[in-house]
Amino acid sequence: MIVMKFGGTSVESAEAIERVASIVRARLQRQPVVVVSAMGKTTNRLLALARLAAEGKQADALAQVSELREFHWNEARRMVIPEEKDNLHASLDAHFEELSHMVAEIAQVEAISPKMVDAVSSLGERLSSIIVTHAFRYFGMPAAHVDSRTVVITDTRHTQAAPFFDLTYPRLQAAIPPLAKSQVVVMGGFIASTRDGVATTLGRGGSDFTASIIGAGIGAEEIQIWTDVDGMLTCDPRILPGGHLIRTISFDEAAELAYFGAKVLHPATVLPAMDKNIPVLVLNSRRPEVSGTRIVNQPPPCKNPIKSIACKTDITVVRIHSLRMLMAYGFLRRIFEVFDRFQTPVDMVTTSEVSVSLTIDNPQKLNEIRLELEGIAGVEVEQGRAIVCVVGDDIRGTPGIGARIFRALEGVNVLMVSQGSSKLNFSFLVDAADLKRAVAGLHNEFFQELDPEVFA
Ligand code: ASP
Ligand code: MG
Repeated sequence: MIVMKFGGTSVESAEAIERVASIVRARLQRQPVVVVSAMGKTTNRLLALARLAAEGKQADALAQVSELREFHWNEARRMVIPEEKDNLHASLDAHFEELSHMVAEIAQVEAISPKMVDAVSSLGERLSSIIVTHAFRYFGMPAAHVDSRTVVITDTRHTQAAPFFDLTYPRLQAAIPPLAKSQVVVMGGFIASTRDGVATTLGRGGSDFTASIIGAGIGAEEIQIWTDVDGMLTCDPRILPGGHLIRTISFDEAAELAYFGAKVLHPATVLPAMDKNIPVLVLNSRRPEVSGTRIVNQPPPCKNPIKSIACKTDITVVRIHSLRMLMAYGFLRRIFEVFDRFQTPVDMVTTSEVSVSLTIDNPQKLNEIRLELEGIAGVEVEQGRAIVCVVGDDIRGTPGIGARIFRALEGVNVLMVSQGSSKLNFSFLVDAADLKRAVAGLHNEFFQELDPEVFA
């Protein structure tokens, strides 16, 4: 068995789904289990219409429901065998009826709970997985739909739920392999449910994570993430075009890149796969002939000390300074408690004897945090910063890397540096205005020559 996950753009239209069908057909002997995202931008649109409803604009929200209904049916009706057409139509209708009721409910209370957010946003994958199942049959492949909510079981942290692997894996093992013997199993990514059967979601971009959970649960030989780029690159194409394709990379490196902004892969994806030592491939559904990026436990040794440069923009820095920190203990605990209380993750931290600087990428609770911190220390906040993260399997153990990094950054004002906490990353903070220059300098320094075993 292999798991094949197709993202939103790969299933955005009937044409795109036809491409998916031919990619899957070419791999039928490997018993594919297909995981799909919502079609195109459906998740964004569902969340937007829920917000409209919460603002009391029920009519506008319902107009959006109609548009979504039309969009789905227009694509779906072109890929369904005649005997199944009425059934599929009725099923889509029932889903959109349910959505209309939720809109009414939200509009009535003019508020939306995280539980309701999940109920609404789960519709995208519920619909796409049903449509793709019918499409596969239309394109001549036997296909079976499995509702992910019945097998992927999570905690109750709505919109960001964490799977219970001990409950999920046995359910996957019982449900999937018998079906996969004779049919392509199709499932929605992103969606799951609590022990009590209430819909949850795994966080934005979570379909990759679903694919990895399923792959680990059924002991797949490979997990393929089909997307709209050729694979992981040596630099972020949104910042600097012209990066090279990475052929093979370790789980640790890929995870590090995902945490630090590489959008190709959801950061949690590698964990279940790594745990069960199942290779993860990133592939392009528009150019299936490209070999993509292979993520494995033990990649071949690489002559380049660095595999890639990742970036994260819109970073806020909080600088905390207090002379009371001098020779005192317990100070860091008090600072971090504040971030904890306001449920704000901290990304990068640097300290000296009397000051601590840290970065956050979610400034929602910034004012509250600042007020609290001002009770114990002097606080300065800087916005519009960017983190640059240089990733390679043994940066800490390779002499001379630091010197090369700083040489490449000549003329760039480096605002914070963090190295050593992980052996494979060196990250630093710059002003957003310097980001492109920093990445270009580093890319030029480290990727003039390429190890052909590792880069394409
Ligand atoms: N549809 C979800 C999202 O847009 C999950 C995914 O596509 O991975 O975030
Ligand atoms: Mg994605």
